[in-house]
Amino acid sequence: MPIRRITEYPEEVLGKLGQPVTEFGPELAALCNDMYETMYDAEGVGLAAPQIGLNLRLFVMDCNGIKLVAANPEIIATDGEQSGQEGCLSVGKVPAVVVRPAKARLRAQDLKGEWFEQEAEGYAARCFMHETDHCNGTLFIDHLPKLRRDMVVKRFKKEKNWK
Ligand SMILES: [Zn+2]
Repeated sequence: MPIRRITEYPEEVLGKLGQPVTEFGPELAALCNDMYETMYDAEGVGLAAPQIGLNLRLFVMDCNGIKLVAANPEIIATDGEQSGQEGCLSVGKVPAVVVRPAKARLRAQDLKGEWFEQEAEGYAARCFMHETDHCNGTLFIDHLPKLRRDMVVKRFKKEKNWK
């Protein structure tokens, strides 16, 4: 199973509203295996389909004991507030503090197309929201005040040039 190339900001696919997943068969399972391999290889805790160049509402995650595939994800409830460091494989893992809800309830379909709901708090809740955002064409830097967003982008571009 191949490791896929991870798309990087500002590639267009990262800013697009994802298309719904409609086929729940062996191809989807194989795709999710590739996504897991790609995510583990990059030492990430979540990876969404746009990050491998696919305009699809789909993500995989393995974060704080929650490992799941989410097709057509939605955040249906949130509570509280947390402020913490966040980074993204598509923005070179440059970290920035993002304020988000402390708890989040995810609704999504699994590999068989069955709807499920899962609640998380802390870092895993952050992951739910970060990956669901990817399916909507939103990056974590879009949650930052302009000045800090510019700083993250600048540092990302600088680090890319060193490679
Ligand atoms: Zn990301």
